[in-house]
Amino acid sequence: MSDKLTHKNILTKFAVQIKCMESNLLIDKTQDEARQGEAYASQASSGVFQKHFYVESYGCAMNFADSEVVAAILEKNGFGGTKNIEIADLILINTCSIREKAELTIRKRLTEFRRLKHANPGVLVGVLGCMAERLKAQLLEEEKLVDLVVGPDAYRTLPDLIAEAGTGQKAVNVLLSRDETYGDIAPVRLDNNGISAFVSIMRGCNNMCSFCVVPFTRGRERSRDAYSILAECKDLFEKGYKEVVLLGQNVDSYYWSNPENNATTTFAMLLEEVAQIDPSLRVRFSTSHPKDITDEVLHTIVKYDNICKHIHLPVQSGSTRMLQLMNRTYTREWYMAKIDRIRTLLPNCSITSDIIAGFCTETEEDHQDTISLLQYANYDLSYMYFYSERPGTLAARRYEDDIDLVTKKRRLQEIVDVQWTLSNESNKRDVGSVFEVLIEGNSKRNEAEWMGRTSQNKVVVFPKGNFNYQKGDYAQVKIQDFTKGTLLGGII
Ligand code: SAM
Ligand code: SF4
Repeated sequence: MSDKLTHKNILTKFAVQIKCMESNLLIDKTQDEARQGEAYASQASSGVFQKHFYVESYGCAMNFADSEVVAAILEKNGFGGTKNIEIADLILINTCSIREKAELTIRKRLTEFRRLKHANPGVLVGVLGCMAERLKAQLLEEEKLVDLVVGPDAYRTLPDLIAEAGTGQKAVNVLLSRDETYGDIAPVRLDNNGISAFVSIMRGCNNMCSFCVVPFTRGRERSRDAYSILAECKDLFEKGYKEVVLLGQNVDSYYWSNPENNATTTFAMLLEEVAQIDPSLRVRFSTSHPKDITDEVLHTIVKYDNICKHIHLPVQSGSTRMLQLMNRTYTREWYMAKIDRIRTLLPNCSITSDIIAGFCTETEEDHQDTISLLQYANYDLSYMYFYSERPGTLAARRYEDDIDLVTKKRRLQEIVDVQWTLSNESNKRDVGSVFEVLIEGNSKRNEAEWMGRTSQNKVVVFPKGNFNYQKGDYAQVKIQDFTKGTLLGGII
């Protein structure tokens, strides 16, 4: 059973951007279950290179964005991307450690590479990302077929590591950095959507939520040079992209100081500058930490039509006692006041969340606090998990993982059921309203229909009719109905 339960009919299951996403009514750009294990390659790659790499990505959007940095580094060093694993000289797997289940999935996938390695012993297999960082050289012992282990801050050394591994040695670099942002590397876009792109604005995390492995696998928080972010966004816009998603574990704590004049850029300032590139470029961001999202950010969202009206504001639990144990640094009441503030300033903004069921010592009363907070916040969507203890985290060291699996799953299911009702009601409220929809491409099921998204990040499918719209255009769509994960409408 998945550790990430969703209601069978939940309308708004998981995240993100690309094609074939009608089943995901509301997206968060943090974790896209539909893209887990996605292998992708830039269209320009094929045919030009003698050697080929194949990369599969798991986990959060940051990992998918990192794979695009890796692709840029490899292309500069003579490797072109391929989606065909059979012809690859280098097989990479960009990994996630957030829950035990994620790691087990990747371990299983690695065993499937064994056949390829037997057929072609010259092929190199590399593990990138959070699992590489967490397990380090131990991975080489445990997974005999792995030749390279490369942590998230060591991708620049990939060409040297590949050369080393090519001589038959095992190559490892898992050094974390205090200043690596890959800011000067223009990522090679590996999606084929051409409309929406991830842009990393920072790396790492300083928050030390007690359940979370990220501060250990991705290191200290550091913000990327604001000029390089703006240049990347402008370049994307010039290439025809219509949406950028600014990524970080905690975007609201973005803070960059220009070494030349000490002028500082906050997240609100960055958001504003990106929004000013062009009114037709949509700007999204993820993830916001409730303690850090400021009024300044909210006012900036109000000020610009092209800053999307969607905030992913993970609460994790509705119980102040749990929040303290989780080291989230806010209380239930404080969080509720933040929701009130968003609703006051941005009445048409969708709000989504992450919830963990069954954290250490959680009582039925704590659990009921989470249920009632869900109802108070009236989330359009939540990503819901049961607690998975991660070795080395504060919680693993300090607290007993004392809620049995049956109880964890039962509580998670209760949370999922409540969220399903809220999501359903959210969609019902949209019927009869008109939304500006950014067209991302053909609907998955019917080429006579478009698929696009609202500013609130809901997927809309509508007939092309006799209108002359293209992918990347905006259409005014009146919502008439909805099915499972999709709003259905018509162009007006
Ligand atoms: N930085 C973001 C934040 O604070 O919301 C995202 C962090 S993580 C990649 C995404 C989500 O995974 C978290 O918000 C949390 O709900 C969940 N998560 C993290 N550690 C977990 C654990 N040990 N067990 C279950 N869920 C976990
Ligand atoms: Fe993990 Fe908390 Fe940082 Fe998010 S803010 S990455 S949950 S430590």
